[in-house]
Amino acid sequence: MRQVPSNRLKWVKWATLTSEGSDLRVFKPVRTLLLPLLICLASLMTGATGQDAAAPEVAPVGLPNVMDARVTQTRDRARLVIDLADKTEFALVSLSEPDRLAIDVRAATSTVPEPNVEVTDDGVIAQYQLEQAGPDRVRTTLMLSAPAQVQQAYVLAAFEDQPARLVVDIIPATAEEFAANVAKDFEASGAAVPVADASTPAGGSELPIATRPLVVIDPGHGGIDSGAEAPGGIKEKDIVLAFALKLQQLLIASGRFDVALTREDDSYLRLEERVALARANKADIFLSIHADSFQQPEIRGASVYTRDENATDVLDKVLADSENKSDVIAGFAMPRMAPEVVDILLDLMRREMRHQSYTLARSIVHQLEPSVALRRFPVRQADFFVLQAPDVPSVLVELGFLSNADDMANLLQGDWQGRTADALARGISTYFDGLGADE
Ligand code: ZN
Repeated sequence: MRQVPSNRLKWVKWATLTSEGSDLRVFKPVRTLLLPLLICLASLMTGATGQDAAAPEVAPVGLPNVMDARVTQTRDRARLVIDLADKTEFALVSLSEPDRLAIDVRAATSTVPEPNVEVTDDGVIAQYQLEQAGPDRVRTTLMLSAPAQVQQAYVLAAFEDQPARLVVDIIPATAEEFAANVAKDFEASGAAVPVADASTPAGGSELPIATRPLVVIDPGHGGIDSGAEAPGGIKEKDIVLAFALKLQQLLIASGRFDVALTREDDSYLRLEERVALARANKADIFLSIHADSFQQPEIRGASVYTRDENATDVLDKVLADSENKSDVIAGFAMPRMAPEVVDILLDLMRREMRHQSYTLARSIVHQLEPSVALRRFPVRQADFFVLQAPDVPSVLVELGFLSNADDMANLLQGDWQGRTADALARGISTYFDGLGADE
């Protein structure tokens, strides 16, 4: 069994794999490139080469404790969460014979109550164990029951009653993909060439730039329509515009998306105009941002809506009133089709968009879940007029409720806004990763 060449792994700064900055490009749907990007050739800690993990090292002061770890999984994906006393760096490697993923976090100690756990849920991880692998690192080894790879990994700062956490999302891989990752990691760790500029992941700038998907963000309300209002005169239209601009910056900085807003200032747009903007620009996804209020002040938390599957009457009416049905499917089919054929194609398109909208909503909620307070059943359906585009996957994000004091405090807080925008950006990225995987 090959040993993890631990002191040659490159630590990933906590921010590197979040959507901040330009490093999001590692999320491009070239999944097999992800792991090698995370692995570097030489130790940053000691500069030592040719020594194993037991070589005498002094743990740098100030490294956090690893407090707990858990794995949740379905057949489609697994998530490892490691609770940390503070944010830290981490490194990842794929290993075979037996097949494993090893995750090292820079930490001084581990007080995980159960360091050896059999995972009973059906999925790619059979069991995992945590151990102190050196004075400055705690290793989590995931024993795989099927080939798998890391889809994304990031560290979250502590918030509310949650500690800092490393979150590692793992998805099934083919045997060839896994073998390729193992070979690349092994080669990288064995090369033992000192790297002068360790801040640049090897090959990180060589990924091909494809045509970027267009994300249209729709800050709700605006102008004469203030949306919900909180005591003290805080208006939904202002909160959602500020948040949308922040999310736009994050997504653009990722280098992966083009991002347009339906409004960039305090102007009023009709709902039809918002939808029309997304459709006319052939948006890949449409994201309407709101923070409404509710009669019951105890209702709080974020949620993501798709359009109600059964609410076809409004859609039909809108299409009949304002659209030429042939235009709707322009680009998908020949002009001058029989009306029945148009109806069938429209129906198929609507079903597909609803399916994709739901997938997008789930991706976003999956990323929000470890970061912010959510409503119960956070993926919801309602007949939102603004989600009617038959050819653009559309979701409406309720960031929280102005009618709830805790949500209100969060919505005004830069830290919360940044964390939530990060999670949304990750959800959007994983949604597009999934599209690539289906092809
Ligand atoms: Zn609203």
